[in-house]
Amino acid sequence: MNGKKARKFDKMQKKKMWPSIALFAGFLVSCLVVIVLFIQIFALYLFAGKVVQAAEQTNYISELMNTAMEQKTAAEAVDYLRMFLTNGSEVYVTDRSGHKIAQTGASQPDFSIAEDFSLGNALGAELIVLADSESAGAAQGSSDAVFSLSVGEILSAVLDRGSEEQTTTQWLNETILEERFWLRESLDNQEYRLYVKCSAQIQRQDILFVCILAACIFVLFLIPCCFLFVNTIRSIVNQRRVTQLLYLDAVSGGKNWFYFQNRAARILCRRKNNRKTYAMVNLHVERYQNYCACYGTREGEDLLGGMDGFLKARTGREEAFARHEGADFGLLLRCEGESVVQMQEYCRKRINSLLAELTGLKPDRKIRFHAGIYMIYPEMREDRRRCCVRQEADIDQMYNYANAARLSAKETDGLRISFFNQELLNDQIWERKVEDTMETALHNEEFQVYLQPKYSPADAKMVGAEALVRWVDPEEGIISPGRFIPIFERNGFITQLDDYMISCVAKLQAQWTIQGGKQVPVSVNISRAHFAQEGLAEHICRLVDAYGPRHELIELEVTESAFFDDKDILVETVKQLKAYGFRVSMDDFGAGYSSLNSLKDIPLDVLKLDGEFFRGEDGDGRGAIVVREAIQLARSLDMRVVAEGVEKKEQVDFLASQGCDMIQGYYFAKPMPVAEFEAKMEEDA
Ligand code: C2E
Ligand code: MG
Ligand code: MG
Repeated sequence: MNGKKARKFDKMQKKKMWPSIALFAGFLVSCLVVIVLFIQIFALYLFAGKVVQAAEQTNYISELMNTAMEQKTAAEAVDYLRMFLTNGSEVYVTDRSGHKIAQTGASQPDFSIAEDFSLGNALGAELIVLADSESAGAAQGSSDAVFSLSVGEILSAVLDRGSEEQTTTQWLNETILEERFWLRESLDNQEYRLYVKCSAQIQRQDILFVCILAACIFVLFLIPCCFLFVNTIRSIVNQRRVTQLLYLDAVSGGKNWFYFQNRAARILCRRKNNRKTYAMVNLHVERYQNYCACYGTREGEDLLGGMDGFLKARTGREEAFARHEGADFGLLLRCEGESVVQMQEYCRKRINSLLAELTGLKPDRKIRFHAGIYMIYPEMREDRRRCCVRQEADIDQMYNYANAARLSAKETDGLRISFFNQELLNDQIWERKVEDTMETALHNEEFQVYLQPKYSPADAKMVGAEALVRWVDPEEGIISPGRFIPIFERNGFITQLDDYMISCVAKLQAQWTIQGGKQVPVSVNISRAHFAQEGLAEHICRLVDAYGPRHELIELEVTESAFFDDKDILVETVKQLKAYGFRVSMDDFGAGYSSLNSLKDIPLDVLKLDGEFFRGEDGDGRGAIVVREAIQLARSLDMRVVAEGVEKKEQVDFLASQGCDMIQGYYFAKPMPVAEFEAKMEEDA
């Protein structure tokens, strides 16, 4: 999965279910608040209606008062009004400065609690409403509002079941709340103020009406609420399912690589883990394909499933694992210890015991495991004293290192566990660089022919040469073949290089022939990889004939190891090459496994004794015996013998005494550029 996709998925992962639940809860709470507010506001509105009714009555009283005051004093007018007052209404008159003039009852307005009551009705005017001095709230000073209606009060009044004798209509019409208040009325005579005591009564049916309305609103809110709730739950469940699917490894039944990448990176970059050392492990099942071929794919998958379950039980909370590809698992394990050595030892022991247990996973089947380990040490600050939090972790790269460590061990010493080291990394970086630049280098003629002369030991005359490639890189300088030929052999580029070398040598031979000077046969190395190519002999012939030198001036060196590949093809190709007039030699004879048998079947012209024969001391003379017998063998088979890697005079003397035909070694000359070789050939040939 690419970085963009991973980031998107990460974002989705972060969207946890809590925000949805919180949103839902918030919505629910706000619904309830809205409903409660609504009840309160609506109740007040209802109450306001009652006040308006009272205001209409007081308006009538004020008109009576105005008429009465045309002939009477204010006190007399109040007396006069008594006969018009009903339902406990009272009147209270003051002068402009608020001093009482007259009153009809015992109570009076509480001037400290007054409110402007904008009715916006037909009366138009703004009413001044005052609390009653005898009403409980005002008397105790517990409230500073004229009306003190609370939701609780309303609800308890509604829920009061009333007496048993009451009919439903009586129960509904029963006054459950009564608020007493005073209304201030203006008089024509501006010197006086008139206050009329009124009462607003609320029946149970009024409140019930409010409640039914509130219930309707609640139900209306409830429908989207339920919908939202179901949707939230569904999206949470869906998200979980999607996550599980995205993280599922279909083969092992456990978590997949994508999960591992995310989890491992998160573990490594956690603040609390910054001092911890981890090991990235590549766990490999040997010959898994073979296992599947023998026992079936299902058995193979069963094995991987078993491994998954086993690793689950053996890894901790701050560790992770998942299948990568085929039968390879990646593990991120924690390492304990004070020093690097201790940590590596801890890791080795732990993985060793894991491998031992895994081997017993299928008791009746023999399974072998290998592990490569890349250690992830804490990242240090610049002062190298304290650790810092890992900013990022390239899990794939770390896994590649672990994989490389495993592969390197498998190739070399067959160890079950191997650690990654810097050298390995350098090799890999070098290989990458070689692969990236080889095509351009060939195109730019950075590969140059060096020639190493071969001398006859009898008369020290140059009798031949070997063409050896050198890579003259603009940055690296001269690179010896040992650093790039094995890479080319692995990636197949060697065939192109060999073709290039053959062409160069053919061109040189053709030039030398035209120049008419001295000339010796030159051998060219042919990689064993080349022999897989069909029609190799014709191909070489074409390359040489493009320049037209005589074929016997070109010798082809085939390494001894090539004889272990497809022998029939090799024999056929050698025969064809010989038929075309080329000479063929067996290079590095004696370096690897014995191929004496090949000598029997293949009609070779030259046997090149490997340089190893002449390296080091030969105290007991056994080396000399082998060389002598090898020369003897070659002569008996009618082959010429070249001794390679000869550096000392006594070796030359010995080889001369044994009848060795040619010597190629630093004793006579090192490989050299063409121009230098041409000069030497003029002198020595
Ligand atoms: P080789 O074909 O066996 O070449 C002989 C190697 O021995 C050369 O190494 C040569 O420089 C070295 N040598 C010769 N005399 C002495 C000596 O007295 N002492 C020491 N220490 N070394 C000596 P070089 O050039 O590094 O080549 C290494 C190998 O790379 C060759 O071994 C050959 O297998 C391969 N190679 C070189 N050029 C080519 C090429 O063009 N094509 C292919 N396929 N392989 C090549
Ligand atoms: Mg050679
Ligand atoms: Mg050789």
